[in-house]
Amino acid sequence: ALSNARSTAPVFYSSDVQHEALRFIRTQTRLYEALEKRQFELWYQPQLSFATGQVVGVEALVRWRLPGGQLVPPIEFIPVAEATGQIVDIDRWVLDTACATMRGWQERKFAVSRISVNVTVADVETPDFVELVQNALSKHGLLPSNLELELTESALLETGPANLDKLHQLRTCGIRIAVDDFGTGYSSLGYLHKLPVTTLKIDKTFVDHVVRSPTDAAIAETIIWLARKFKLETVAEGVENQAQADVLKARGVDIAQGFFYARPMPERELREWVEVHQNKVSD
Ligand code: C2E
Ligand code: MG
Ligand code: MG
Ligand code: MG
Repeated sequence: ALSNARSTAPVFYSSDVQHEALRFIRTQTRLYEALEKRQFELWYQPQLSFATGQVVGVEALVRWRLPGGQLVPPIEFIPVAEATGQIVDIDRWVLDTACATMRGWQERKFAVSRISVNVTVADVETPDFVELVQNALSKHGLLPSNLELELTESALLETGPANLDKLHQLRTCGIRIAVDDFGTGYSSLGYLHKLPVTTLKIDKTFVDHVVRSPTDAAIAETIIWLARKFKLETVAEGVENQAQADVLKARGVDIAQGFFYARPMPERELREWVEVHQNKVSD
């Protein structure tokens, strides 16, 4: 703290800890305002079939736009929102907005029929989670198969039997469930087959080095093998170049998502991107 010339804080505080704490409180306060004033936007990133090149789904990703116009990335507010419980309100808005968007797409006969939303343990823990999801579908006239819920591997591992039961109920009614960031959470094989999941999303860290690192390539191959055994779909997240795409496709991954194809974008841009893309693929 002494070497920090800009700091006027008392030297007996660790300036890092103090700075973090202030940042946390400030973000929490501004998130309440953001929820009240609806400062959130939903952006969409396409997911493409390796086999056909067609867009088979999109992942909905939340964005926070400050009154000044600047965007706050999720990494800066999702952890705070998770710690304060504000994530539950954010994700309710996300779910409703994603379903409304999907309904709009169906009315336009838009080619995409699946939307994925991210949910956390706190969401699943709310007593009315199952009804909430089912109501969102019926409110917007969607089929359960139009919706996929993404939960990280670590969230699935830390959640208790009551929450797993809720996920089973949602799965039973036809909603898809993806394990996000798969490969990072140390789940045992015995556990995986008890989870009501349809999809494994291979974590970006393995995709990053799949071309040059034999270890990461082996992990990716193991996940693909596992998915086959349990009849699960695989999605590679964070595909950034052709070489990664080639390897992942050759190894049998079903779906690709990443900046190599498209970044997350606002709804209208997404529609325009998909229309241009599908025309290219069908040529
Ligand atoms: P995630 O669910 O694993 O989402 C994938 C993240 O990777 C997104 O970051 C996406 O923009 C980014 N990504 C996709 N392809 C590439 C690529 O090729 N290269 C790189 N470098 N990044 C890529 P984003 O949108 O910043 O979201 C970060 C995380 O925040 C998400 O990770 C998810 O855990 C969380 N998140 C985002 N939206 C929501 C939401 O609505 N609710 C909840 N609970 N969490 C959310
Ligand atoms: Mg996700
Ligand atoms: Mg992910
Ligand atoms: Mg991730």
